[in-house]
Amino acid sequence: MSELRFDELGGEQVVYAIHRQDRTFLPSRERCPLDPTRPGGPETEIPVPAFEIAVFDNRFPAFEAPSGAAEVVVYTDSHDGSFATLAPERAEALMWVWRHRYQELGAREDVEYVMIFENRGVEVGVTLHHPHGQIYGYPFVPPIAERERAADQRLGECATCALLRSELEDGRRVLCENESVVAHIPYAARWAFEARVTLRAHRASLLDCEPDELRLLAGALQALVRGYDALFARPFPYVMVVHQAPTGAQPAGGHLHVDFYPPLRTAEKLKYLAGSEQGAGTFIADTVPEESAGALREAIARAK
Ligand SMILES: [Zn+2]
Ligand SMILES: [Zn+2]
Ligand SMILES: [Zn+2]
Repeated sequence: MSELRFDELGGEQVVYAIHRQDRTFLPSRERCPLDPTRPGGPETEIPVPAFEIAVFDNRFPAFEAPSGAAEVVVYTDSHDGSFATLAPERAEALMWVWRHRYQELGAREDVEYVMIFENRGVEVGVTLHHPHGQIYGYPFVPPIAERERAADQRLGECATCALLRSELEDGRRVLCENESVVAHIPYAARWAFEARVTLRAHRASLLDCEPDELRLLAGALQALVRGYDALFARPFPYVMVVHQAPTGAQPAGGHLHVDFYPPLRTAEKLKYLAGSEQGAGTFIADTVPEESAGALREAIARAK
């Protein structure tokens, strides 16, 4: 069971999930807990010999009922590959799985905010290489969602709609786009290759999307991740986060977008959060978004 403590001085919740110390840490390929359970093989988390997409409760949850939820989403039963190498139909199906989990967890009394995410690469602390993501159902609205809601209030309209408009007008940070979705590096990006993938139409969550929009969202996300991998010709570590409207009783707000926070500044150099970032909460970036956007845009075109 996790414990929540409120940090008065910082004004935010801290979650203590100490049982997570026992998590499976980079097991050998043969002992991958996210593989299907093959006849004669070891028993895994998934008790079937083959599957397309599997969702189950995290065995080492940061949150669990009656105070939130933590789930694992396995993208494929094949151990190798990544989100980028999924067949387009599978990536599209994943959008429907995300939508279903958002709906189901969001309907729970003990969940105020549903966050779908993927950590990729040992650089961001991944403990299992099998292509997968996670979902947390927070029993409160976390600070980043609160700040995005505050931005809507400050601007007097949907901040995501307003920002997308100005990104499209400017154009220098746009990475790729299709009929329904735009990928760009934000004007005030913190990470060198940070990216945001936004629905053109105002959609509070995946539940508001048309089937075509879900397909085009999957396509844009895959194009971006392929571009990331092409950028330095190596698997590109990142944290990918799906931001959607909070699901609790309070007025909804929010506009679906998927944010990527990659820690690499160059092929070898990682950005560390140090003095200013940790002590002042002010991010000091070493690169200019317009320049990173040029390099990443080229890599996306190359990886097509
Ligand atoms: Zn595996
Ligand atoms: Zn909007
Ligand atoms: Zn966001």
